[in-house]
Amino acid sequence: MKRPQTDPDQSDAIVKTIFEEVRTKGDLAVAKYTSLLDGTNPETTAVTTAEILQAKDQISEDLKKAIATAQINIEKFHRAQQSPKIVVETMEGVTCWQEKKPIQKVGLYIPAGTAPLFSTVLMLAIPAQIAGCNEIILCSPPNKNGQIDPAVLYAAFQCGITKIYKIGGIQAIAAMTFGTATVPKVYKIFGPGNQYVTAAKQYAYQFGVAIDMPAGPSELLIVADESAVPKYIAADLLSQAEHGKDSQVILVSNSESLITAVEAAVNEQIAFLPRQEIAVKAIANSSLIYIPEPEDTLRFINDYAPEHLMICSENESFYIDGIQNAGSVFIGNFTPESAGDYASGTNHTLPTNGFSKNYSGVCLDSFLKSVTFQKISPKGLQNLGPTIEIMATAEGLDGHKNAVTLRLADLNETL
Ligand SMILES: [Zn+2]
Repeated sequence: MKRPQTDPDQSDAIVKTIFEEVRTKGDLAVAKYTSLLDGTNPETTAVTTAEILQAKDQISEDLKKAIATAQINIEKFHRAQQSPKIVVETMEGVTCWQEKKPIQKVGLYIPAGTAPLFSTVLMLAIPAQIAGCNEIILCSPPNKNGQIDPAVLYAAFQCGITKIYKIGGIQAIAAMTFGTATVPKVYKIFGPGNQYVTAAKQYAYQFGVAIDMPAGPSELLIVADESAVPKYIAADLLSQAEHGKDSQVILVSNSESLITAVEAAVNEQIAFLPRQEIAVKAIANSSLIYIPEPEDTLRFINDYAPEHLMICSENESFYIDGIQNAGSVFIGNFTPESAGDYASGTNHTLPTNGFSKNYSGVCLDSFLKSVTFQKISPKGLQNLGPTIEIMATAEGLDGHKNAVTLRLADLNETL
């Protein structure tokens, strides 16, 4: 069950220091840590329109088309998550309703690191726009030339995001938490990141900023039997292993021959991966596990609570029905996990490190809040009033009772 983790105390101390500096010195502190940690000193932190247009020219037509297809699917799936206003007359004259309202100011964090994840821009910006968030800002670390990856800028532009800042890591989270002269303060921060970004997001919570979830290194758990194709399973395991050295991938199977075949296929395929060095380290954190009984397998999966779960089994409905804890589930031999990472329509920002036990992945609701309303008619208060009076008296809160009693007395007089 144990995930590869680095020492949290170490990141906590750095987070505190940088937060304090950004809180007191604003943009100056942001610039200091950008040059210190990203090795660059961009002329302007805010991305200019000229830079966005320049990025557009650098993107191939094929990639533009692919982004457009992904965008359509993600938008379809997230638009369908809109829920209507719920109105209930709980008793005669007492009307209650619930309405979703967008979180007004949100900050999207897009990591760059070893791979600029422009796909994450789509996964966060599209639901934010559908939800109707008024202010959507995006932070992403600059490269050595002081630029954000053109694909990240292009994807942001396509999603209608224009407030983009060349800031990464802890200083980005701190800037969005406190606001600086350049970067607006936000109410909720979204997006994946390394252990420092995760620690920073959790620390931001102390200053009244909400976060999507405590995201960590990527994980994939595959449950497979003899009906699975070893080379597909190996490719899927490696697809998540290449995310980072601290990624973890697990295969659980009731077939020893499948496990042997997958292990051989992993060793064969890893040799051709450009990100081999990363994948090799992640594979060292990973396991091939033989569990003969499906009930034991299911219990293990629910205890492990994977970010991504793939089911390649003749017994697939047993696992589909029994799964309680997983971020996102991929079913069948022709549903690679990459589909959800990029373009099928589901969100790829998902809970890791066992948090699928108590967190959902990012969805439309992540950008909304539920607000409740009520309106009580005179008749309604006559119906409900005595109940409130009795309960308030029993709790010893006479002021509460009085707020009802005064009104009921007036109503009785007019009758
Ligand atoms: Zn992935």
